Amino acid sequence: MRFHLLTIFPDFFTGPFSHGVVARARDAGKLEVSIHDLRNWTHDRHRTVDDRCFGGGAGMLMKPAPIFEAVESIFPGRTPRQRVVLLTPQGPLFTQSTARRYAEAEELLLICGRYEGVDERVAEHLADEELSIGDYVLSGGELAAAIVIDATARLLPGVLGNDESAVDESFEQAGLLDYPQWTRPAEFRGWAVPEVLQGGNHAEIRRWRAEAARAKTVRNRPDLLK
Ligand code: SAM
Repeated sequence: MRFHLLTIFPDFFTGPFSHGVVARARDAGKLEVSIHDLRNWTHDRHRTVDDRCFGGGAGMLMKPAPIFEAVESIFPGRTPRQRVVLLTPQGPLFTQSTARRYAEAEELLLICGRYEGVDERVAEHLADEELSIGDYVLSGGELAAAIVIDATARLLPGVLGNDESAVDESFEQAGLLDYPQWTRPAEFRGWAVPEVLQGGNHAEIRRWRAEAARAKTVRNRPDLLK
C-alpha cells in the first residue's frame, strides 16, 4: 500500500516513520510513504499557501488551488481505490474500523491542514472524506496523519510479525478492550500475577481473559458496550 502526505512541513515526518513496525514494513517494501511539499504547487515568488478568510476573523486559511493541483497531479485519473482524506477536527472520528477500511485501499492521500484550517471547497469537492482523530484541536494535521498511517499500516498483510497480532487487540473483539496482561516476575513489589495465568490450562485462561476484557471495558470504556 502507498500512503501520500500533503503538507507544508515535509521534514516533520522524519521521526514517526523511522522506528518500529512502520519502519520495518517500509524497509521490507510492504508499504511506501511519499511526502509531498504543498508549496511545490504554488506559483508565486513567496510560495503562498494561505490567505485571509472571507467574512473576517482571526488567522489565515489554506488556499484551495495548491491543494487541488497537488492532488490532481499525485492522482491523475484518480480511481476509487485512491482515497483522499482531509484531516480536520470537523470530521467523523477515526476508529479501528476506519483503519481497517483504509487498509483495503491501494493508495491513501492525507491532506494536512495548518493555520485556521482549509478552504471548504477541499472538503466539498476534492476529498473523499473528512477525518478527525479526536475531539480536540491540534495545530496541524501532520500528527493526525502519522497516527492514521501507523494504525492502518499495522493492519496490512505481513506487516506484523508472527508473534504480534492485530486480531487479539482492543476494539477488534466485539468492541471490547484488550484483556490485561503481565510479564515476569510473577510477583513484583508484593503484587502477584493472577494465579490462573501462571498455570497451563488454556481453556481456563481463555475464559479468564474474556471476562477480564469485559470487566476492563465496563470500567474504562462503557460507551463501547452500547
Ligand atoms: N479552525 C479549525 C476548527 O476549529 O475546526 C481548526 C484548525 S487546526 C488549528 C489546523 C489543522 O490541524 C486542521 O486544518 C487539521 O488539518 C489539523 N487538525 C487539528 N485538529 C485535528 C483533529 N482533531 N483531527 C485531525 N486533524 C486535526
